[in-house]
Amino acid sequence: MPNLSFVSPTRNSPWGTYLSQIDAVEPYLGHLSKWVETLRRPKRALIVDIPIELDNGTVAHFEGYRVQHSLTRGPGKGGVRYHPDVTLEEVMALSAWMTIKNAAVNLPYGGAKGGIRVDPSLLSMKELEKVTRRYTSEIGIIIGPTQDIPAPDVNTNGKIMAWMMDTYSMNVGATATGVVTGKPIELGGSLGRVAATGRGVFVVGREAMRRLNIDMEGARVAVQGFGNVGSIAAKLFAANGAKVVCVQDHTGTILNQNGFDMADLLDHVAKTRGVAGFKGGDMIANEDFWGVKSDVLIPAALEGQITAERAQRLQTRLVLEGANGPTTPDGEAVLADRGIVVVPDVIANAGGVTVSYFEWVQDFSSFFWTEDEINLRLDKIMVGSFKHIWETGEQHKIPLRTAAFTVACTRVLQAREERGLYP
Ligand code: GLU
Repeated sequence: MPNLSFVSPTRNSPWGTYLSQIDAVEPYLGHLSKWVETLRRPKRALIVDIPIELDNGTVAHFEGYRVQHSLTRGPGKGGVRYHPDVTLEEVMALSAWMTIKNAAVNLPYGGAKGGIRVDPSLLSMKELEKVTRRYTSEIGIIIGPTQDIPAPDVNTNGKIMAWMMDTYSMNVGATATGVVTGKPIELGGSLGRVAATGRGVFVVGREAMRRLNIDMEGARVAVQGFGNVGSIAAKLFAANGAKVVCVQDHTGTILNQNGFDMADLLDHVAKTRGVAGFKGGDMIANEDFWGVKSDVLIPAALEGQITAERAQRLQTRLVLEGANGPTTPDGEAVLADRGIVVVPDVIANAGGVTVSYFEWVQDFSSFFWTEDEINLRLDKIMVGSFKHIWETGEQHKIPLRTAAFTVACTRVLQAREERGLYP
């Protein structure tokens, strides 16, 4: 572990996981490994205090973060997460994964991430708006359309992006649509952005299945997390002939060996805010999710889900990482031993930031594309990036994660070398 005084990662914590991924890629970086230490520390990390007056008249303080892991290939880019367990160390890892992800699909960005340690379900709409606006003001010193561009992540959405865009714009005295992505369409948002991450998971999954000779028709899919990423990926798999047999979210786990009726399930979740109580399947214990037989398993919730112990129990052929960092290093070692292929987060869920890039480009040019154009360009980038990573894996006989890191880190460190050190 490098000597950073402000974090103490363990092997399977998010930052520890990221560091072990960098250790794994180092042998494949050739002369660029001279610069690899750059990747083991964030360029800049900001911790902010967010005081707000609650509806009951008392004052509450929340802790917020914005970490810019790398600005080598372009401005910072990455989402903002609202969660009671968010820590600086976690946001550091998430920002570093954005550096790798943006480079893996060749977007002209560095990597950044933000978060607030808050449970948004306990706040009223007014309080949520106050937290968002104060956070945006506090990180205003390092964000901007050409500096660092936030976006939605866990528990954040278009409404929150609209408040961020407005707050930043009021502070600079001009409407700055390009400061965040994932905005509502009326404020310079892009068609296709909401579905983009799930769509990208599907496209990359389809390509991986083709390489592994897994037939889409009738393929059994299990999904953990049924938010923006998991639900849309599941819907697309089902629409293309696969059977979604198991879904887990914060309300429980449901199973139907014949595959769910997705329209009914999505309708149930829209009405009740969770899968629990869905009539078209049986509830099973949450821990049993990991033993369900499937061809494709999509973790699309939080980090650290596939531990060594759960990896032993998986009965699947392909893990498609919709979430960021869902597999621990120990879990990954077990999957490798068992011959289960992992398509890593940095390519599998890169569809969201890819359409964020399209949104940013559209905002700069004030010229907006059709949804078909967006989906076609997304497909092209995802297919091309996956192919490049797959072939890199074959060439060096390394797992897809190390291959994705090889492609991405080579791009980042090449840029690092060409820019040179200042002063
Ligand atoms: N939060 C998403 C991710 O983890 C999207 C980030 C973005 O669009 O900037 O990739």
